[in-house]
Amino acid sequence: MKIIQTDVLVCGGGCAGIAAALSSARNGAKTLLIERAGFSGGIITTVGLPYFDGLIDKPSGRFVVKGIPLELLQQLGVAKVGAKHIDDLRPDLITKYWGSVWIPNVEEFKLLSDELILKQSDRLTVLYHSMACDVEVKDGRVAAVIVANKDGLVRIEARQVIDCTGDGDIAHWAGCPTIKSTPLMPLTMHFRVGNVVPVKETRDAAKKVLIEAHQEGRLPNFYGPGLIFAFAKDECYVHATRVPADATDAADFTRAEIQGRKDAWTIFNEWKAKVPGFENSYYIMSGPCIGVRDTRRIVGLNVLTLEDLQKTTRHDDAVATGCWFLDIHPPEVSVDKPFTGSGFQPKPYDISYRTLVPQKVSNLLVAGRCHSASSEASASSRVTATAMALGEAAGTAAALAIKSKIEVGTVDGRKVRETLSQNNGGPFTDA
Ligand SMILES: Cc1cc2nc3c(=O)[nH]c(=O)nc-3n(C[C@H](O)[C@H](O)[C@H](O)COP(=O)(O)OP(=O)(O)OC[C@H]3O[C@@H](n4cnc5c(N)ncnc54)[C@H](O)[C@@H]3O)c2cc1C
Repeated sequence: MKIIQTDVLVCGGGCAGIAAALSSARNGAKTLLIERAGFSGGIITTVGLPYFDGLIDKPSGRFVVKGIPLELLQQLGVAKVGAKHIDDLRPDLITKYWGSVWIPNVEEFKLLSDELILKQSDRLTVLYHSMACDVEVKDGRVAAVIVANKDGLVRIEARQVIDCTGDGDIAHWAGCPTIKSTPLMPLTMHFRVGNVVPVKETRDAAKKVLIEAHQEGRLPNFYGPGLIFAFAKDECYVHATRVPADATDAADFTRAEIQGRKDAWTIFNEWKAKVPGFENSYYIMSGPCIGVRDTRRIVGLNVLTLEDLQKTTRHDDAVATGCWFLDIHPPEVSVDKPFTGSGFQPKPYDISYRTLVPQKVSNLLVAGRCHSASSEASASSRVTATAMALGEAAGTAAALAIKSKIEVGTVDGRKVRETLSQNNGGPFTDA
C-alpha cells in the first residue's frame, strides 16, 4: 500500500475543510487535504448552494466572522476590502430580511479554491477523488487514515488530523463518542431551471401545484417552495425537495439521492405544465449531489447548547462566533416557512475551541457541522460561514500543535484565539 506522511491531514474539502487546510499551511504546517469530489467547496459546489450564512448579525448588520470566509467573499468581489457591515457588501447579493449574503457563481468557487490551494503549494497538497474510508488508532492517537482513490488504498500517516467530513467519519471510526439528532433533518436536492419569466401569479401557482401533487401522491414530500432568482433574473434556483434519510447509511443515502432526483424532476414537470412563467423553461442541473444537513456530531470536551445561545455564554477559548437563527428543518412537508419551532434568533455567541476536540483521541480535531453541539445549537452553528470559521480555527490549532510538538487535543484554545486574531480571524469583538 502506498504511504504518505504529512504534518497535518485534513479530511473533507468543504466549507470547514478548505479553511482548515489553508490556515494549517499558512501557519507553517505541511498539510494534505483529501476530498472525495473532484473539487473543493462542499455544500457550495457539491450541492450548488451560494449562501455564506452566519456572517452577519441580522439585528445590527455587523459581521461576526472575519478571516478566511471574509477573504473568500473579497476575492469573489462580494465584499469590499475592510468590510465589516452588510452595507459593505454588493447590494444585489444580500437579503436584509434573512441577514444573508450569497456568491454570484458557485462554479467560480471551485476555481478560487484551487487557486488558493496552489498558491500555498510549498506546504499544501490536495488529493481530489480521494475518500477516507478507515482509520488505524494506536495508543489513543490516529496512527493512519486509509484513503481510497485511483492509486488504490493509500495509507496516510499524519501527526495531526482534522475531520471536516461533515459526518464526523474519522472521529466515528476512531471510536470517539458521537450523537445524532432525533429526528435527523431531511436531505434536499437543489436544482436550477432556466428561461423562467416570473409573473405575479408564479409563486402562488407554484405552491398550489406542489400541494396538489403531494395530495395526489406524485410528490411524497416538499417544503416552501423557495423560488430564488439569485443567479439571473430568468433562472430559478429551487429549494423544495425534502427526503428524510440517514446519510451515514450507504443504502439509505443512495435511496435519498434517487428520491431527491425524482422529486426535483416531478416539481419541474408539474411547474412547466401548469405554472405561468415556466411554459418555456428547461431543467439546467441539480446538485451534483443531494445536500446533507444533519448526521453525526462529536460529543467533545465542550458541547455548545441552546442555553449557551440563549444566555450568550462567554468562553476564554472562543475561536469563532455564531449568529444564525435556529434553522431546524422538519422531516415532513412544510408549506411556506421552511423551519420548524420558534426560529430563535441568538445574539452573537461564543464557540469554544473545546467543541472541536473529541474525546478519547489526542491528535484529532473535528470542524464544521459535526463539531460538538446539541441538536438545537447545531441548527445555528452548522451554517457555511460559521463552519468555515471553525475550520480556520482547527487548521490554526493543528499548526500550533506541530510547532510546539504537542497534540491538538492539548493545545490551549486561548492561544488559538490569539493566533487567529493576529491573522485577522477569530471571534467577534467590538473593535
Ligand atoms: C440542502 C442544504 C441547504 C442548506 N442551506 C444553507 C443555507 O442556505 N445557508 C447556509 O449557510 N448553510 C446552509 N446549509 C448548511 C451548510 O451548508 C452546511 O452545514 C455546511 O456546508 C457545513 O460545512 P462542512 O464543511 O461541515 O460540510 P460540507 O460543506 O458538506 O463539506 C464536507 C466535505 O467533506 C467531503 N467528504 C465527506 N466525507 C468524506 C470522506 N469520507 N472522505 C473525503 N471527503 C469526504 C464532502 O465531499 C464535502 O466536500 C444547508 C445545507 C444543506 C444540506
